[in-house]
Amino acid sequence: MRIAIIGAGFGGMAAAYDLKKAGHEITIYESADYVGGLASGFKEPHWDWSVEKFYHHWFQSDKDMLALIKELGWEDKVIFPRPLTVMYDKGRFYPFDSIFKMALFPGLGFGLDKIRFGFVGLHLRFTNNWKTLEKYSADEWMQKYAGKRVYEKMWKPLLVGKFGPYYDQVNMAWMWARIKARTTRLGTFEGGFQKFADLFAEKLRKMGVEIQLGVKVGSIKRGQDGLSVGREDESESFDKVLVTTAPNLMAKLSPDLPENYLKGLLELKSMGAVVMVLSLRHQLSRDGYYWFNLPKESGYPMLALVEHTNFVSKEHFGGDHIVYAGDYLQVGHEYFSMSDEALLERFTPAFKKFNPAFERDWINKVWVFKTNYAQPVPLVNHSKNIPAIQTPIEGLYFASMSQVYPWDRGTNFAVEIGRRAARLMSGGQ
Ligand SMILES: Cc1cc2nc3c(=O)[nH]c(=O)nc-3n(C[C@H](O)[C@H](O)[C@H](O)COP(=O)(O)OP(=O)(O)OC[C@H]3O[C@@H](n4cnc5c(N)ncnc54)[C@H](O)[C@@H]3O)c2cc1C
Repeated sequence: MRIAIIGAGFGGMAAAYDLKKAGHEITIYESADYVGGLASGFKEPHWDWSVEKFYHHWFQSDKDMLALIKELGWEDKVIFPRPLTVMYDKGRFYPFDSIFKMALFPGLGFGLDKIRFGFVGLHLRFTNNWKTLEKYSADEWMQKYAGKRVYEKMWKPLLVGKFGPYYDQVNMAWMWARIKARTTRLGTFEGGFQKFADLFAEKLRKMGVEIQLGVKVGSIKRGQDGLSVGREDESESFDKVLVTTAPNLMAKLSPDLPENYLKGLLELKSMGAVVMVLSLRHQLSRDGYYWFNLPKESGYPMLALVEHTNFVSKEHFGGDHIVYAGDYLQVGHEYFSMSDEALLERFTPAFKKFNPAFERDWINKVWVFKTNYAQPVPLVNHSKNIPAIQTPIEGLYFASMSQVYPWDRGTNFAVEIGRRAARLMSGGQ
């Protein structure tokens, strides 16, 4: 079969790999002039490794990604350091990545609340019954079982930070998946995620997959001789097409989809993200902390402060210290239209809270990355809203971050759904 794949992110490339192995003829169309999609990175001339535009790491539970890397023979290029994640309480940060450190965290007191926090965490870690949990909002379930104080201190800031106005509508299965899949060791690829994406693309090309970069697909239509994939003034016909874009883009690409499928795509909610990457002359966190969780109510202008070079060595970046300051936001939030300079003005005063010695002249360079589609929002009973991978148009398939539910989005699940789509397209289950 002749198959087109729209998007050279990890989902599209994983699908291409399996479909090519199954003997099909594959063309990938990618609108950017690089592969890797949301997990792509960039590199300064004096860096050996790339930095992801949006902070990225793997968990040890990311079995589909790790299995793919093993299959490709690159498992020796995956490293799993154990960087420190910290929680905020009354102006200070406390390590929060082991049961022992959680027990010492003062934010929950040292009585019943801490015990409830522990029991609820253990229950969620061991249960597999997410279907029951998706009937409740995390807001309602957590208040009931973990208690109001634990909810207000631990879980509400997370929900508000990630989902803004939707925070009290997100279902409990999302929280379950988050707790279930997390590990304290965090992984990356030697050279960065972009290195992995480039190696993967090179492997696909060697296998005979055609990857066309800088080609934006504008339409997909069912014609007499298959599915016609249109870009600018040209079009080409394929037997099958897999789309891996955001749901609203899928709806635009293929307006001939039946009304209820289109409605399903357009009703899915998601959050965007704005992330600033800074290269600094000095280390920001003197304690060597990697990930700062910042509750919105404490007045920080961002949700997370992530010092990448407290996860991987600064030696890979010519001695530069790499820091991310990021937030999940609704499209239309002022951060989306602010200039890089204005955003820097907004963010830098907070840096002194991480290190009082911080000065503006520590900053070598700043980059800002924005995406409208960063985080799908799973509402109560969300499993009923997931669009099928196989669309009602014959031969047209769709696999995106919005369909990996109950799991939260991630490159691991992009690989899983890409490979699942490939199986369906080859006639399997
Ligand atoms: C802020 C942030 C932090 C994250 N952190 C992590 C993390 O720590 N760990 C992790 O594993 N994952 C993380 N993720 C999620 C991860 O990046 C995604 O789950 C994954 O990259 C999705 O892959 P995909 O192939 O499904 O989609 P994408 O990567 O979005 O790929 C889709 C591709 O389609 C292309 N495209 C779109 N429209 C067209 C068109 N018309 N024509 C041609 N091409 C088109 C796009 O350019 C893109 O390359 C994070 C994401 C964000 C935003």
